[in-house]
Amino acid sequence: MGKIKEVAKIIQSAHYVVALTGAGISAESGIPTFRGKQGLWQKYDPLEYAHIDAFLKNPAKVWRMLKELENIMYKVKPNPAHFVLAKMEKVGYLHAIITQNVDNLHQIAGSQHVIEFHGNAMRLRCLSCGKVYDKDTISFEEVPYCFCGGLLKPDVVFFGEAIPKEALIKAQMVIDACDVLLVIGTSAEVAPANYLPFEAKNHGAKIIEINIEPTHLTYQITDIFLKGKAGRILQELAIALAL
Ligand code: NAD
Ligand code: ZN
Repeated sequence: MGKIKEVAKIIQSAHYVVALTGAGISAESGIPTFRGKQGLWQKYDPLEYAHIDAFLKNPAKVWRMLKELENIMYKVKPNPAHFVLAKMEKVGYLHAIITQNVDNLHQIAGSQHVIEFHGNAMRLRCLSCGKVYDKDTISFEEVPYCFCGGLLKPDVVFFGEAIPKEALIKAQMVIDACDVLLVIGTSAEVAPANYLPFEAKNHGAKIIEINIEPTHLTYQITDIFLKGKAGRILQELAIALAL
């Protein structure tokens, strides 16, 4: 039996299927991944730009970079991989997505149960009073401020920051519940998201990994590795699932 067909069968007979997604699922939408040759972070050192201490020290510098990335981050559209996951949820083959991405593309594609592990770049949050703003409602020159006078930060988890408690609890719940985990387009290098596949495996969930290249998970815990671009593999899976 082809691997894709085998995966389709596993999904069809599963009780609770969860997807953990990373930057790779949005690569085909045109957003560069963290690592790899095209990596954004060859140009912008994360410690200089995506660390909370760097932001607090020089918010204008980080906001300048974000404005420069505006075209990459905010004008992109979901790709077939996002749409297939949304469709799988609709018909009951997928129960939750835990995403490390902050690009909002799962939500735009129509997925309902999305746990934003690293926040969402479409929102800004006040560092003083916690008020949350829709990004498009804020215009500013150098640095955006809240009505309370507090500094506004993209509502994403910077290096050096904790995962939002609610996301952590929800992710834990769906990982505990799952009997199949699809790990899609993540290098699984970033903690604590990279513990989730191990926790799923520990309680007996099947780990199905989709990536253009093997990761450290592939050799340690992956049951079935589907090598290739997420868009193509998920479209093939959709056909095998008769979606
Ligand atoms: P990563 O960059 O560390 O790894 C990306 C993975 O995707 C790699 O394993 C790569 O082989 C794989 N990949 C690349 N293109 C692919 C494709 N077309 N199909 C399938 N797989 C593909 O990303 P990560 O593991 O998500 O960790 C990076 C961190 O950076 C995350 O915390 C995330 O929040 C953040 N990030 C987010 C975005 C976004 O929101 N789109 C983009 C870059 C980084
Ligand atoms: Zn405020």
